[in-house]
Amino acid sequence: MLKLPIKHCKSCGTAVVYRLPDDGDTKERAICTACQTVHYENPLMVVGTVPYWDDRVLLCKRNIEPRWGKWTLPAGFMELNETVAEGAARETVEEAGAEFEMGSFFSLVNIPRVGQVHMFYLARLLSDQFDPGHETIEARLFKEDEIPWDEIAFKTVAETLKRYFSDRRAGQFAIHAIDIV
Ligand code: ZN
Repeated sequence: MLKLPIKHCKSCGTAVVYRLPDDGDTKERAICTACQTVHYENPLMVVGTVPYWDDRVLLCKRNIEPRWGKWTLPAGFMELNETVAEGAARETVEEAGAEFEMGSFFSLVNIPRVGQVHMFYLARLLSDQFDPGHETIEARLFKEDEIPWDEIAFKTVAETLKRYFSDRRAGQFAIHAIDIV
């Protein structure tokens, strides 16, 4: 999901141009030709959880594009005025309707090519019954050898799942910083 360049000023609607601002900034920014507003574009945060139940992990089958019909961990764009953990919990409720207890921070995945940072917390499921929302076709639990690796929606999710099962086998969960380049 590449971010599209800004075309119009968010203050006055006039067309913008990309150029270096006059303040010594070293990156080209979208600058309004009328009111001179400089529009800064920064990475988006995607926040989610690795919900687990014994030796199984909860995945959601996507009912939305992109990657409709593929499996993902519950995750979505962080909202203003929430913490990463709050956003991750909110997405887990919205997408899976799961009951859970938030655990420790688990993975941070940089995807500089698309300007995103994905962050996952562990979440201990309190029930194996789910009530997924409209963004999810089906929510179900998978053992490691049942994970549909070819049907995982995002590389960030696959990389996080690999580390989850590897840590689980090792009997100790670490914090992982991953770069997808
Ligand atoms: Zn303007």
